[in-house]
Amino acid sequence: MTELIPVRAVESIDPAKPIRLTPAQAGGPIHTRSFTGRFRNLRLLGAGLLFLLFFGTAWIDWNDRQAVLWDLGARQFHIFGATYWPQDFILLSAILIIAAFGLFFITVLAGRVWCGYACPQSVWTWIFMRVEQLTEGDRGQRIKLDAAPWSLHKILRRGAKHGLWLAVSLVTALAFVGYFTPIRQLTLDLATLEVGATTAFWVLFFTAATYINAGWLREKVCRDMCPYSRFQSVMFDRDTLIVSYDAARGENRGPRRKDADYKAEGLGDCIDCTMCVQVCPTGIDIRDGLQLDCIGCGACIDACDSVMDKLGYARGLVRYGSERELAGGKTRWLRPNLVGHAAMLALMIGAFAWALAERPLLSLDVTRDRGLYRENALGQIENIYSLKIINKTQQARSYSIALVEPGDFELHGPSTLHLAPGEIRDLPVSVALTATRNGAGPQHLQFEVTDQAEPDSRVATRSTFLAPLR
Ligand code: SF4
Ligand code: SF4
Repeated sequence: MTELIPVRAVESIDPAKPIRLTPAQAGGPIHTRSFTGRFRNLRLLGAGLLFLLFFGTAWIDWNDRQAVLWDLGARQFHIFGATYWPQDFILLSAILIIAAFGLFFITVLAGRVWCGYACPQSVWTWIFMRVEQLTEGDRGQRIKLDAAPWSLHKILRRGAKHGLWLAVSLVTALAFVGYFTPIRQLTLDLATLEVGATTAFWVLFFTAATYINAGWLREKVCRDMCPYSRFQSVMFDRDTLIVSYDAARGENRGPRRKDADYKAEGLGDCIDCTMCVQVCPTGIDIRDGLQLDCIGCGACIDACDSVMDKLGYARGLVRYGSERELAGGKTRWLRPNLVGHAAMLALMIGAFAWALAERPLLSLDVTRDRGLYRENALGQIENIYSLKIINKTQQARSYSIALVEPGDFELHGPSTLHLAPGEIRDLPVSVALTATRNGAGPQHLQFEVTDQAEPDSRVATRSTFLAPLR
């Protein structure tokens, strides 16, 4: 049997319609055209909120402390006045799980909108593209500059672009590293060149990462490196909103005379102006159908809508639409896949809010001394323990320390303790067995610490008491 090798046409058989490669297909640099529109405004809003969150939480103070600070040395995580400890990492893990599930929900609802509107990779790429536009001009000027030989003009423009890119990257790296070391001190140390080697390394590392990712790699990160882009398409269903070209309305595409009855000439609404391709940050042609490279940013929708406005045609030739809607049906919102994700997400957020509200603001760990037991001056069997008590509140607190239902046990050590806000104290205590129950062997006992101002705030921890087996 003859094996057929699939062959792809490399040139158009119709000389009137030469094949046009998209920037992504051509493999060259992508020079996007600037544009305005509803979805661009929405993206600006998304970027503004992300900026507020990213830079604001590093620079704004809250209760006399940086609003968000991960103090690795003290093993404390401060967030808007609340302090979290390694014991609370379960809550931080829960936040990550909820965020991942929220992303799944958004993907089922509207495809890759997270990528297009709020992903830091996209947001920083848009900023870098804006800098490029400011320093090197709009699309046509940049293409010309690319092709031009090196000159003082080209060196100055390129230098300004890379200088500004590096400045944005440095400010970004500073904010990121500032989550782990107080940002004001860090800025001062950098300015006076007194920064430590490790901190300097991380600032340089994140500066380089931002510069390379948003300046040079750009859409390649979304297309080839991001694991989320690989699997999210399997989450789409026939009702997921994706950026789509309405081929039934747009074809046959082509230019037309101003007052001609283009429909009578067999033409659709697409005038083949390629504006949708020229604004695309990943350099694809949405008219070729849904592609892995599409980040759902809606730039092509804005571009096409403005063309439709100029022509007096209805908007929406390129739009967020579902496969079902494009096939002539109606998008189903109340579908099991979407409702199931929404219900699960609501349940997780509710459980998290409850766990956060019920989070104990007092912690007690008990460690029994590694020795077996000893006999004290009164001839009683005695065990030694170390109590690690943490005041997780933002106020100074006084605590009572006792044994729960002590029976024949007696606690020797301080019965009250004063702790400053966020203070950790290791407290050595001993417990003696007052009765002569030496034959009992290992027994259980429970330590309890109670906040004297709020007796409902208490925590109890079990441990073991060792005694001879005679
Ligand atoms: S095809 Fe449209 S929505 Fe997709 S990445 Fe390009 S401009 Fe954005
Ligand atoms: S912007 Fe609209 S009209 Fe122009 S090529 Fe794209 S789909 Fe066709």
